[in-house]
Amino acid sequence: MKKRTMKLTNLVRPSIAALKPYSSARDEYQGSAASMVFLDANENPFETKVNRYPDPQQQQLKGVLTEKRGVTNAQILLGNGSDEVLDLLFRAFCEPSQDNIITLPPTYGMYSVLAGINDVENREVLLTPEFQPDIEAILNAQDARSKLLFICSPNNPTGNSISEEKIVALLEGFNGLVVVDEAYIDFAETPSWVARLHEYDNLVVTQTLSKAYGMAGIRLGMCYANPEVISILNKIKPPYNVNVLTQEYALRYLQNEENFDNRKNLILNEKELLSKKLLQVGFISKIYSSNANFILVKVDDANRRYTELLNEGVVVRNRSTQPLCHDTLRITVGSPDENKKLLTAMKTIS
Ligand SMILES: *Cc1c(COP(=O)(O)O)cnc(C)c1O
Repeated sequence: MKKRTMKLTNLVRPSIAALKPYSSARDEYQGSAASMVFLDANENPFETKVNRYPDPQQQQLKGVLTEKRGVTNAQILLGNGSDEVLDLLFRAFCEPSQDNIITLPPTYGMYSVLAGINDVENREVLLTPEFQPDIEAILNAQDARSKLLFICSPNNPTGNSISEEKIVALLEGFNGLVVVDEAYIDFAETPSWVARLHEYDNLVVTQTLSKAYGMAGIRLGMCYANPEVISILNKIKPPYNVNVLTQEYALRYLQNEENFDNRKNLILNEKELLSKKLLQVGFISKIYSSNANFILVKVDDANRRYTELLNEGVVVRNRSTQPLCHDTLRITVGSPDENKKLLTAMKTIS
C-alpha cells in the first residue's frame, strides 16, 4: 500500500533533531481526578474556569478529530490557526539561509511571508493558465535543499481544486514534504488527502476551523501527517499553544454536525446564485469556477472597481498583484443579505 517512503532524518534540521523539548508541568502529570491537589504549575488556585493551563496535547479534541477524520492521535498536531502549523513546518525542516521551499503562485500569501520570516528561499513556480501545477517545472526547480512544497487545494485565490493526478505526481517526484493546504476542503466535492496519509510518508495535510466551520475567531488549525513528522512538530510547538477557551469551543461546535452541514449548504447555494447574478454584471468578463466559499472574477479595471465597491460599503479582495490574476477581485460568499448588498452595489457602479 505504501507508495512513497522517506527518511525524515535527512529532512529535519539537525538542531531540531537534537533538541530536547521543554517539559511542562501538565506534560508530566495529566490526570484530572477531582481529589488531586495541583501545586505543580504555579497557577492561581481560585476557580475562574480559565485559571488552569490547557491540556498541552488537547486529548479530548483530538479524540473527536480522530473519529471524524479516520486518523490516529499520533497523526494529528493542533495549532493556533493553521498559520501556526505552517510556521512550525518551516521551523522544523528549513535551515535558515540554506534550505528552500517551493510555492505555486497565484496562491495563499502566507507561505511566502513565512519563508521571509524564517529566512528561507521561496522558489516560485507559476501554476499553468488552467491554475494547475506544472509538474516538470516544479521537479526541475527542486534541489537537495528543497524541503517543503506547498499545494493549496482548493486554491486561494483561484478557487479551483488541484487535480489528484498532479498531486500524486508531486508526492512521487518531490524529495521533501508535500504540504496540501486544505483550508477550503469542506466546500469541495473531492475527498480530503487525509485519507491517503498511509500511502505517502511525505504527505502533510493542513486544515482549519476558520472557514467552513465558522470559527475563524477561535484560531484552531490542524495538521495531519505521519507520526514521525507529528512528533517532530510536537517537540517544537509552544507547550500551551491551543488555549482552554479554544479547546472548549471547538469541542462543543465540532460535534454539532447538523448545524455545520446546514450552514455549509447555505453558503454553497448562495455561491451558485451569486455566480449566476455576477455573470450579468457588465464589467465582469469572467467568473472562475470555485470549489471554495469565494468567487474570483475578472473585471475591466480591478483597482477602479475595488474602490467603487468600497465607496458603496462593500469590501472585496483585489488580487490583481498576483500573477495570472490581473484585474481580478476575490469575493467571499456572504449571508443572503450581504450578497444582495454586493449585487446592489455592483449595479450602482455599473
Ligand atoms: C484562511 C486560510 C488559512 C488560514 O487558516 P487559519 O487556520 O485561520 O490560520 C490557511 N490557508 C489558506 C489557503 C487559507 O485561505
